[in-house]
Amino acid sequence: MTAQDDAPELEVWIDQDLCTGDGICAQYAPEVFELDIDGLAYVKSADDELLQDKGATTPVPLKLLDDVRDSAKECPGDCIHVRRVRDLVEVYGPDAE
Ligand code: SF4
Repeated sequence: MTAQDDAPELEVWIDQDLCTGDGICAQYAPEVFELDIDGLAYVKSADDELLQDKGATTPVPLKLLDDVRDSAKECPGDCIHVRRVRDLVEVYGPDAE
């Protein structure tokens, strides 16, 4: 098993149609999530830019994985999706097994 298998590359996206705008994700992981003036949460790029295209993804830095995973678990809208980059299988979120 390689190191990559131990720590698969993950990415995260938000389904804004279901976002309640409570801001829990932005509290847990402000480096990754931010509320925009429309009151909905969006993911951010590594250089802090809000990504507002539908289904936009951003990589999950390993050091923030716990915070992003907790965000997905606590998200009242069930709309934070964390998936493997390799095969797009959701690992945390409403579509995770
Ligand atoms: S935790 Fe979920 S519902 Fe709440 S602001 Fe973030 S994405 Fe929206």
